[in-house]
Amino acid sequence: MSRIAVVGGGQAGYSASAKLRLLGFDGEITLICGENEFPYQRPPLSKKYLLGDFERERLFLRPESFYQEQDIRVQLNERCQSIDLDHKNLTLASGEEVPFDTLFLTTGSVPRRLPASMGGDLKGVHTVRDLQDIDTITHELDRCEKAVVIGGGYIGLEAAASLNIKGLHVTVIEMAPRILMRVAAQETSLHIRRLHLEHGTHLLENTTIEGLIGDDQGRVQAAKLADGQRIEADLVIVGIGIEPETTLASQAGLEIDNGIKVDRHCRASHKDVFVAGDGASFPWHNGMLIRLESVQNAIDQAECAATNAVGQWQEYNPTPWFWSDQYDARLQIAGIGSGHDKVVTREGRGPNAASYWYFQGDKLLAVDAVNDARSYMVGKKLLESGTEVDPSAVMDTSTDLKSLLLP
Ligand SMILES: Cc1cc2nc3c(=O)[nH]c(=O)nc-3n(C[C@H](O)[C@H](O)[C@H](O)COP(=O)(O)OP(=O)(O)OC[C@H]3O[C@@H](n4cnc5c(N)ncnc54)[C@H](O)[C@@H]3O)c2cc1C
Repeated sequence: MSRIAVVGGGQAGYSASAKLRLLGFDGEITLICGENEFPYQRPPLSKKYLLGDFERERLFLRPESFYQEQDIRVQLNERCQSIDLDHKNLTLASGEEVPFDTLFLTTGSVPRRLPASMGGDLKGVHTVRDLQDIDTITHELDRCEKAVVIGGGYIGLEAAASLNIKGLHVTVIEMAPRILMRVAAQETSLHIRRLHLEHGTHLLENTTIEGLIGDDQGRVQAAKLADGQRIEADLVIVGIGIEPETTLASQAGLEIDNGIKVDRHCRASHKDVFVAGDGASFPWHNGMLIRLESVQNAIDQAECAATNAVGQWQEYNPTPWFWSDQYDARLQIAGIGSGHDKVVTREGRGPNAASYWYFQGDKLLAVDAVNDARSYMVGKKLLESGTEVDPSAVMDTSTDLKSLLLP
């Protein structure tokens, strides 16, 4: 009987394990979870769970009984310390050895932290990555009035919106000239910027932080900016991005290239190792390697890897999609906009609704839709089919978007 070990019990680790059983794999599956929790969904953490509008139990992808029924052995609060690929063996932090025939690495990513020299280890300074982070923040919220969020990416902005709704005075500090600079066009950034300003959040772009200042109890009390300005804060959220968790893979001698490098079949540089989720760096259409940090990618890539592990080979060719909720705005994104030379705006119908269409020549690359599910759906279908689109037709609100899908 063959044995599969899955290291990392997040979205991808769960999806791979469940898919293996669905495909009829009847060997041993051991799922090693570094956290003391069964696999759970992260998106609500910075949104409804932080707001207190989402019950803890609902975060879990499956109840404990699912793993028993599916005969998936789950090791909670157990980290894999090393991988011996020659002898096909894992060593866990507890000292237990887990032999395997096939290995899945779904170790995800880790949030970048502010160094201790900048006050990163002061009390009241948090990242927003796991359940424990949010439970700690929630516990502190009652005594906090002013929050500084460092980093104007999706996670930072979602946390900023949630904290603002909770009644805190929030300042977002972004080093780049505009929020969402790494992931979105200026048009989308401006839309989201307006949203936060309307809700009274203080947004400082093009602003560098020199460090955090603590009080004599070691608790954060302010952020000091490079220009000398001081922003009072009793809570600081560090949302400055993530790094793929490659430590284990790299020690095991697997190839690393901005993540654990895989081929089109989600296979690492060792033929018996599959990788999926935030940590996997995979080939994209233009020959480049990319990493996607999204739930859709974690699920689809893990399921593709599981399918390959049971010998039903298929290539991983996703049309990426992602969403973010901030206040009453739902941003839905299809495709990847990098390399665009033009962005076309289409006004939406409802409040605060618009979509931004990224083109390279006449080739549609991506769509960002705010409160505009129709634009998102049509854009995603156009991307999947590779249909050519006339940018001026998109911009013209008298165009019925669905007509663009007709041959
Ligand atoms: C606050 C927040 C909000 C988000 N919102 C959205 C959203 O709205 N839409 C969206 O599409 N995506 C969102 N994402 C991103 C999405 O959640 C991630 O892309 C997804 O969770 C990646 O899944 P993963 O399984 O690759 O990694 P993870 O979920 O990070 O899971 C990896 C697991 O591996 C464990 N691990 C690592 N090393 C070891 C080891 N050596 N031994 C044992 N275990 C180990 C880690 O502890 C972790 O539990 C959000 C993420 C966060 C943090």
